[in-house]
Amino acid sequence: MQNISTYNFKNKKAIIRVDFNVPLNELFQITDETRIDAAIPTIKKVLSEGGSVVLMSHLGRPKGSAEEKYSLKHLLPSLSEKIGLQVKFAADCINEPAQQAADSLKVGEVLLLENLRFYNEETSGDASFAKKLADLADVYINDAFGTAHRAHASTAIIASYFPNDKMFGYVIENELEAVKKVIEKNERPFTAIMGGAKISDKILLIEKMLDKVDHLIIGGGMSYTFFKALGGEVGSSLVEEDKLNLAKTILELAKEKQVNLLLPTDSIIAPSFSNEVETQTAENTSIEKGWMGLDIGPHAIEDFSNVIKKSKTIMWNGPMGVFEMSNFENGTKKIAEAIAEATKAGAYSLIGGGDSAAAITKFGFTEKVSYISTGGGALLEFLEGKVLPGIKAIQD
Ligand code: AMP
Repeated sequence: MQNISTYNFKNKKAIIRVDFNVPLNELFQITDETRIDAAIPTIKKVLSEGGSVVLMSHLGRPKGSAEEKYSLKHLLPSLSEKIGLQVKFAADCINEPAQQAADSLKVGEVLLLENLRFYNEETSGDASFAKKLADLADVYINDAFGTAHRAHASTAIIASYFPNDKMFGYVIENELEAVKKVIEKNERPFTAIMGGAKISDKILLIEKMLDKVDHLIIGGGMSYTFFKALGGEVGSSLVEEDKLNLAKTILELAKEKQVNLLLPTDSIIAPSFSNEVETQTAENTSIEKGWMGLDIGPHAIEDFSNVIKKSKTIMWNGPMGVFEMSNFENGTKKIAEAIAEATKAGAYSLIGGGDSAAAITKFGFTEKVSYISTGGGALLEFLEGKVLPGIKAIQD
């Protein structure tokens, strides 16, 4: 395994797996450029060291054949502007168009290949497809953390064709560093904040965190399954009936491991899942029939904020309520605020998972937390302690 900071790129062609899976509107304009921005330092590093760059990515979920709306050519204007030169485009990611364009690429130039997922061979991890991609360059850089948990042709299989010339880009390097700070080198007290809709999606992470943290805060939709398990009345709040025993087990495990597990004491409730109806505040043990909890209440905000502000390491995954609706955004916003305050006072804060990152951005705290992960599913699996194929392929 090589290192991007020390590798000699002079006269080398680097093929970089980036995550350009950005949202586009009906006019094919990019509505959130975060993922493109994230890839720029790696691209510029190769160029500044005298190399050239071939970029490959997926976009959307095409079904194994070309579809205009998923063409990566829609990204060319933005990408060219950000890199500061006219990026070239190959209308296929393999075969003649890609080979020819890669062969004629000069030092200092950048080529973007068409969507990898126009071929089923990408997601199936086909070795000969990976070899065709590998043949386009001298060096392989994986900088797509969001797909590092998949053993796809461009994220893992391709690495074996570059035994001595493979490395991570800065995006993945930073992700690895951030997770290390939280899981291995954490300063205490360490607080994990878990939210979002369901326990079932996050159970492995919750269990893993119980071995690591001093405080585990549970908010959002998933908290009502815990209250129901404890015998409370939660009205029509979101409950996973088949996870009641699991919730009890988590509560017992927390006790056993001496983790301070905090549930929200109160909620903002509404008669339906809507922003247009009246709201009330209620204790979480007694939400009346016909009402549902859609955000944490003022006491919960206070309890959670007090713990967060005293923490030295913070990991946040999942919103505290339905933050997409203005009537139920306050809990998530206040928790983001508490994390920002703790960070200012010297804590290390890692924000992971698409929704918490979206919330941090929505409320303007992007610059006030230590690190916002670019990978939802990949980050979860990595924090859970799983081996990610895209990481292993480079390290092996
Ligand atoms: P997840 O993808 O599991 O992190 O869940 C995020 C989603 O959970 C967001 O879209 C929130 O609107 C939703 N959510 C958070 N709290 C609640 C709640 N109390 N009831 C229903 N949905 C919620």
